[in-house]
Amino acid sequence: MNLPKTDKNLYLFNTLTKKIEKFIPIDDNVKIYTCGPTVYRDAHIGNMRTYILADILKKTLQHIGYQVTHVKNITDVGHMRQEMLDEGEDKIIAAAIKEGKSASDIAKDYTEKFFIDENALNINKADYHPKATQHISEMLSMIDRLINSKMAYISNQNVYFEIKKFREYGKLSGNISNLSTLNNNEESDPNKRNPNDFAIWKSTNENRELIWESQFGKGFPGWHIECSAMAHKYLGEQFDIHTGGVDNIFPHHEGEIAQSESTFGKKHVNYWVHGQHLLSEGIKMSKSKQNEYLISDISKRSIDPLAFRYLCLMTSYRTKLNFTFSALKSAQKGLNKLRHIYWINKNSNDAINIDKVKMWSDQADKALMNNLNTSKVLSILWQSTKSDLNKSEICNLFEYIDDVLSLDFNKYYLNQNKFELPNDEYEARKKNRILKNFDQSDKVRSKSINSNNIKYYDFSNGDYRVKKISNYEKTNSEHTISGSSELKSNLSIKDEYDISICLILDEYTNDFERCINSITDNIPKNFSYEIQIAINGTQADKKKIIINKYKHKKNIFFTHIDPICGAGSVRNIMIKKSLGKYIFMVDTSIEIKGDIFKVIIDDLNNMKIGLVGPYGLKTNDLHHFHEISEKKEFVDAIQLYLLAFRREIISNTGMFRENFRFYRNLDIDFSFQIKNANLKLLSNPNLKIKRHTHSIWENTHPKTRDELSKDNYKRFLQKWKNYKHLLNKYK
Ligand code: AMP
Ligand code: ZN
Repeated sequence: MNLPKTDKNLYLFNTLTKKIEKFIPIDDNVKIYTCGPTVYRDAHIGNMRTYILADILKKTLQHIGYQVTHVKNITDVGHMRQEMLDEGEDKIIAAAIKEGKSASDIAKDYTEKFFIDENALNINKADYHPKATQHISEMLSMIDRLINSKMAYISNQNVYFEIKKFREYGKLSGNISNLSTLNNNEESDPNKRNPNDFAIWKSTNENRELIWESQFGKGFPGWHIECSAMAHKYLGEQFDIHTGGVDNIFPHHEGEIAQSESTFGKKHVNYWVHGQHLLSEGIKMSKSKQNEYLISDISKRSIDPLAFRYLCLMTSYRTKLNFTFSALKSAQKGLNKLRHIYWINKNSNDAINIDKVKMWSDQADKALMNNLNTSKVLSILWQSTKSDLNKSEICNLFEYIDDVLSLDFNKYYLNQNKFELPNDEYEARKKNRILKNFDQSDKVRSKSINSNNIKYYDFSNGDYRVKKISNYEKTNSEHTISGSSELKSNLSIKDEYDISICLILDEYTNDFERCINSITDNIPKNFSYEIQIAINGTQADKKKIIINKYKHKKNIFFTHIDPICGAGSVRNIMIKKSLGKYIFMVDTSIEIKGDIFKVIIDDLNNMKIGLVGPYGLKTNDLHHFHEISEKKEFVDAIQLYLLAFRREIISNTGMFRENFRFYRNLDIDFSFQIKNANLKLLSNPNLKIKRHTHSIWENTHPKTRDELSKDNYKRFLQKWKNYKHLLNKYK
């Protein structure tokens, strides 16, 4: 049913004016351009947040009656990004070589994946998805015009836009120079008149894919000119709205304005709408920071991609949003509830009072008109479910607003009604209920949930409805946490065991088994113990086998962490869960060959000693650490292969530092915390232990592990550089 819409005045925050402004379109067909994906890699869910914003904006405009023409380009030319131009890199080609495909195959594959992901998020296709590679002539003709009007110049077969010629350069971002580029690269390009000028055509002598002929020589276009040329072709010299993420504001959109306005002499875009970033672990999600998640990471955890859409809608698009799987799971629960409310209220015989619904739909519209306040819209939906609206009215409101939200209320309704109910079961239950034989009818009910995923909902008047439970509603019995901050610590609780052994279960399951078996074989009978196992990351089949093998054993406890968490955090999770008087942290490269436990505990009973382990390190200068392997002695650090301490010392020394995401050097940092609490570190190389190859180290690329180790070392040094006095203790 169509409800009348009252307030058609959309207000948007315009980056150009830094104000919320009333949206006045050029004509009734609103024209929007969205900077689309770069298709030599997967689009991550941060990118998707920005595309959800464009989708909400477009649907809002359609919802209030506008026609919309939407363009979202496909950047299928690797070197179009300015930073790549500067670095002379061609990422599509590099990716193609790596994957043994042609550059265009790579682009095609990622483009297809992108559309599949957008579809999973109910993002409607744009009217045009122009590919950069198919618009080189349009870009060249714009470049030509810019040279003719002296806004751009040719230098050594490259073409640069001369920013000082465009007086308004900087009006969008307030920037005129990219300081980081200036510092690193720009000085090295002697072809530019001014270091801030940017390339709009770059020539190259190399003979490779993705190179075009031009009057300046063979080469390829700049990134900004791509969007200027395609926006012009599909939307004209001036259009209404341009969207993107805030990182696009400078230099990309600033460059686009300079080129387009210099070419056509008109204001390029009236409203610039930029979405804030999705963060992960507090920093912008991006491939280079290795903190990105994809839609497939969501689906493989049996979470609905639309729960991610719901999560985005709960926050203003202008606010940074820190992504966690826990937040996503809560969003899934919220969405499930709303969908269920729609389902259970649908198809009632209640008559609709349009005026009553309109009071609510007006409120929802008002929130949307207020710079797309989707979180308010959602809270209005929730409130409506507790209001005096009847069943049909609630559904009416949900349908009305789902035009914009696209959370699939009605699709859910239809899907969950699609099932074959075993007829005898239905009849049996009905009969039992009529006879008030509730025990029997409840039995049917629970059997049905278990075997057919079908659930009965009973009403007080004796009616009931039957629903197929969706995959996303099945309660995931697997409880996971994503970091140590989600756990309450047991440190203040009194000891329950003599020993807590902490092990990490990662993908190297053979190492794990060798290690745990060597522990259980050698732990003396007169000690009580628990084994705390942290399963780090998703449960691949290999891990599941281990879990099933050990989960029923007494005093073996698992904590499932997902997504994978850092080296410091995972160890703290195990410390927080431990209840042993002595904690043994054992790396799975270790194989225990005898009773080491009693020997270590004897040493730990000396209250002056804080940490004991077989592999000690010494240093004179905090720079060079050498391993001690001859005799038992006091050292400056104990390595993570095996270290043991009394649980009670942690409240003094503190836990592992969690900004150490890679394990390397985390042990020296932890060791220094212990020394700083006035406790000694004892190395005992005589323990009966065998050290096998360290799988994480072996399987990490040498360049990566060097970088990660160095970063950690810097972290260590930054904190401890002025603590050299701790070293002299044992001399
Ligand atoms: P790219 O493929 O890097 O050009 O990014 C595509 C779109 O996603 C651009 O509009 C970016 O501004 C946006 N974007 C990139 N990273 C994020 C992020 N972490 N959160 C939100 N949007 C992002
Ligand atoms: Zn763009």
